[in-house]
Amino acid sequence: MLTGMMMNRPLLISGLIDFASEVYGTIPMVSQTVEGGIHRYTFADSRKRIAKLANALIAMGVKPGDRVATLAWNGYRHFELYYAISGIGAVCHTINPRLSAEQFIYVVNHAEDTALFFDITFAPIVEKFKAHWKPVKTYVAMTDAAHMPDMAGALCYETLIAPASDQIVWPDFPEDTAAALCYTSGTTGDPKGALYSHRSTVLHSLYSVATINMAFGSDRSILPVVPLFHVNAWGLPYSAAITGTTLIFPGAKLDGASLFELMESEHASGSWGVPTVWLGLLAEMKKRGRKPVGLKHVLIGGSAAPKPMIETFEKDYGITVLQGWGMTEMSPLGTVGHLLPEEENLDFAERVELKAKQGRRVYGVDLKIVDEAGTRLPHDDVASGELFVRGNAIVSGYYKNEGASVRALDKEGWFATGDVARIAANGMLTIVDRTKDLVKSGGEWISSIDVENAAMAHTGLANCAVIGIPHPKWTERPVLVAVKAPGAEPSKDEILKLLDSKLAKWQLPDDVIFVEALPIGPTGKVSKRDLRAKFADYKLPEAG
Ligand code: ADP
Repeated sequence: MLTGMMMNRPLLISGLIDFASEVYGTIPMVSQTVEGGIHRYTFADSRKRIAKLANALIAMGVKPGDRVATLAWNGYRHFELYYAISGIGAVCHTINPRLSAEQFIYVVNHAEDTALFFDITFAPIVEKFKAHWKPVKTYVAMTDAAHMPDMAGALCYETLIAPASDQIVWPDFPEDTAAALCYTSGTTGDPKGALYSHRSTVLHSLYSVATINMAFGSDRSILPVVPLFHVNAWGLPYSAAITGTTLIFPGAKLDGASLFELMESEHASGSWGVPTVWLGLLAEMKKRGRKPVGLKHVLIGGSAAPKPMIETFEKDYGITVLQGWGMTEMSPLGTVGHLLPEEENLDFAERVELKAKQGRRVYGVDLKIVDEAGTRLPHDDVASGELFVRGNAIVSGYYKNEGASVRALDKEGWFATGDVARIAANGMLTIVDRTKDLVKSGGEWISSIDVENAAMAHTGLANCAVIGIPHPKWTERPVLVAVKAPGAEPSKDEILKLLDSKLAKWQLPDDVIFVEALPIGPTGKVSKRDLRAKFADYKLPEAG
């Protein structure tokens, strides 16, 4: 083998913001602040404040490798922390503010965070858990002196960075240095830490901009509803910097009306988030009879995008829907559902059918499906099996968790996603379900996603979820838990009749239960685990 003669510069996150501040220096970034009002500045302004923050962190005693935690909404100070912490070789540990008490205590102690930066809205959480967070030496409220919460010993972000220099020459270090830490929401057992490196982060943003190219550019703007506190807002802080895309941070206001207003006033050309968020925005759009002016695309990921949601966005409002599939352990992008030219020419119903699938892998992610013995299954869109992934932005294990790390990978070193999927010869991925959400009925699997998709075609439903209920003969049977649309009075029979026309008999739910609302988990998705717990004592109509 002959070695190539090319430079080998480390792929570092600091290089992204340096690039953006020079090449896209005048491009704005907008934040709805938690103090109230809109904050605006440019990538060049941001770089200066990032340098000040980095110098302040060093002065505070933060060393390379230290974990520094954030507990914050999407906003410019959180963006600054991303770059300043990683830039000096420390690790930005984003904490999900929707964790349970036990998980809050676990993640900070497990990560051994030495400093914690928080939005003032989260001051009550900090007060509540401070005594349990032994490793944390410094608390910093992400605000100015005028808005400081009444908390003994807490520092003020603006006061902290004010005297620091706005110049910095970033240190060089190996590209596999840890940059950021995000814990899974821990649906089973303790949360597990995905420890992203500089290299994986830079590569992931390159993969992302190469695949979702229509979303990015210095004439575009994206409103990330996906939080900076979970999986790095799907990589947007980094991919926006590479492409000079304006980010519009919504702060704490994530309801449909607030999102609509911010999208409209700031001319968002795109927005990314989980399906539950879009239900709120679509309700607001229906009320107003129009979309926010300028909104061209939404990226829906995190759970399956229901077909009727795709239809409404595209047909009623002319907004392009892209579906993305991925997970915390994949940085997170795995597949994106844009169509090839020949597919764009299909009729509307066929296009929606394709867009309801999870899309094709992004460059840099390999996919395989296997049967229970671990044998590879064909990519023929018929065989379904457990989905495994491999690539440079996928975890090789979990932070300080050997047991989980060993279980995560198969013998060939592929990561087990816990999803069951089909893959077509042309690469199109269909997620059948999460292994733990499949309803196991009489030796067959029922995809909860398929049943939900079919039920959501009923206009009288605002949202729904299917769970398996233990059954003496069939092991489990599906039950549809549904939320009525405002003003609608759908009946159980009506819904079952609709499903009867779309599904096989054995896939039909044994019951339809109406509830006021579905439980939402820490990442904003419907939590089937909580739903199963809620209906633990429920008896099926015919099971006796
Ligand atoms: P957690 O929900 O534990 O925080 P993630 O946010 O990483 O974990 O979620 C990853 C999982 O979400 C995937 O394994 C998959 O089951 C589900 N998921 C993500 N995107 C989609 C999608 N577009 N369609 C169906 N399922 C999805």
